[in-house]
Amino acid sequence: MKYDLVLMHPPSIYDFRKRDIVAGPISELVPSTGVFEMYPIGFLAIMSYLRERGYKVRIDNVALKMLNSRRYNFEEELLKIDTDYIGLDLHWLPHVHGALNLARIIKDVRPDIRVMMGGLSATYYAEEIMKDVKDVDIVVRGDTSEITMEMILAGKNMRDIPNIIYREGATIKDNGFTFMPENLDYQKYDYTQIIKSSIRSFDVLGHLPYCDWTKEPVAMVLSTHGCSYSCGICGGSHFAYKNFYGRPGPIFRSSEKLVEDIMSINNDLKIPVFVVGDILMRSAKDKEYIFSTLKKEGIDIPLLFEVFVPHTREDLSRMVNVTYDVSMEISPDSSSDKIRFKNGRPYTNKSLEKFVFDFLDLGGKKIDVYFLIGLAGQGRQDALDDVKYARHLMEMNNRNERLFIFTSPVSPFLDPGSRGFELPELGYKVKYRTLMDHYNALDRGRTWADFLNYETVLMDRDTIVNTTYDAIDELLKVKTDLGYLSNEEFARSHQILESSRLAIKLSEKGDYGLMKKGDALIKSCGTKYTVLKKEIMWGTGGSRTKKMIFMIYRYLHSSRE
Ligand code: SF4
Repeated sequence: MKYDLVLMHPPSIYDFRKRDIVAGPISELVPSTGVFEMYPIGFLAIMSYLRERGYKVRIDNVALKMLNSRRYNFEEELLKIDTDYIGLDLHWLPHVHGALNLARIIKDVRPDIRVMMGGLSATYYAEEIMKDVKDVDIVVRGDTSEITMEMILAGKNMRDIPNIIYREGATIKDNGFTFMPENLDYQKYDYTQIIKSSIRSFDVLGHLPYCDWTKEPVAMVLSTHGCSYSCGICGGSHFAYKNFYGRPGPIFRSSEKLVEDIMSINNDLKIPVFVVGDILMRSAKDKEYIFSTLKKEGIDIPLLFEVFVPHTREDLSRMVNVTYDVSMEISPDSSSDKIRFKNGRPYTNKSLEKFVFDFLDLGGKKIDVYFLIGLAGQGRQDALDDVKYARHLMEMNNRNERLFIFTSPVSPFLDPGSRGFELPELGYKVKYRTLMDHYNALDRGRTWADFLNYETVLMDRDTIVNTTYDAIDELLKVKTDLGYLSNEEFARSHQILESSRLAIKLSEKGDYGLMKKGDALIKSCGTKYTVLKKEIMWGTGGSRTKKMIFMIYRYLHSSRE
């Protein structure tokens, strides 16, 4: 089939299958592997918008295909693709190596295809990309690029298309960054499009969001772009948006649309939904509308909400009663009020403790609490104290098995555009600044320690790395001690951590022998992780049902009806 646009998702490091790379614990707490094969939700918004208007668009998750098979060959796939444009995401900067290499290969193998790049990191580095990466024809700026992309596909005069920087012969033309939709209601997150596109292209794998999606499927619903807070490490913060992404404040998807999004997943796919953005910060009227409508409509799928700050018992009570399975996640980042405030999260341990207690007491299914290692103003002991506090939180909730606490490093990169990256006075020492600095770090580095683009005033690189292994190991011990984990689970995770730690230590002396054994490496979907990875997944309780097949069946059945 001839496409107008193929949206391609690169792996973090293009040649990860050939290189021995210790990704360490950088992806223990996300559904992706260390190759970060999960594509941005923006792909779905772009595909839904363009397909609705008659364009032939598909997603191709190249990262996942590479993880799935050692034999997968990107060049061979390119030779078979019939499309005018390929859109590569460079939303998260850790994909810079994969994105630039895919662009290079596309231009080598198929110079007839025009290459677009988009996403927040592409926006931040738009000028550098056009200057230094000859394989990219167009960078589309901003966090909402559907309308701009439609103009490009429709063949409008490039000079009249806002937000793009592009090549015209040997010249770079910059149309600036002037167009920003004022709300998100024109967007659609139509998951049935993924199923339709999978069927039409005979390529289920290329559409899967991440390796384990068929076992642990989750649909995302986006409630906001931008944020009211300015957390020090966050490239999607108020500070970053105001200074680099053209938005003085966050914009929202209306509560009506949000409910529609959730209910369409409930009705069409029957899989858990993760609502991104803190909807409890909305007005009382909006919250009332969302919860009462969902309840009235009879929602019966698991829901996961994230919150930016603790909320009242009353709000939690409404939320928890919406459906039979409501989970929650909150990121206090540090157990020190002082460090938390410094890093932009304005609440105390006391309010966190009440919030966690209320959620569990009201019958919430699962609450995840996240701490971070590598924050400004945080020393090694502060990060280890977070583990002591985690014990305290678990004990004060009577070792409630619905409470899950995690710790992980800020890695591999501190986000460009964040306060930490831009303002040295916050306490970060940024080692890599430019796009190519980051590319080179991923190209030459062997371990996640080599990739870190920052140190802090209080912790150098080695301290961040060692503290990470110590804190995760200690947290696993605490969880075992309190009965959350079995001795076997602890032993297995401990071995994975130690193998990764040792591989880094030896690599510093030029000894890559342990790496080659493979335990600490990311090579396939079956990469080894600590038990924490299992703990972050929720909703389907480890069911091995092939959900995608079920969904395709459902879709075919309903379209016949
Ligand atoms: S990390 Fe902070 S700034 Fe970023 S989205 Fe979350 S609450 Fe907002």
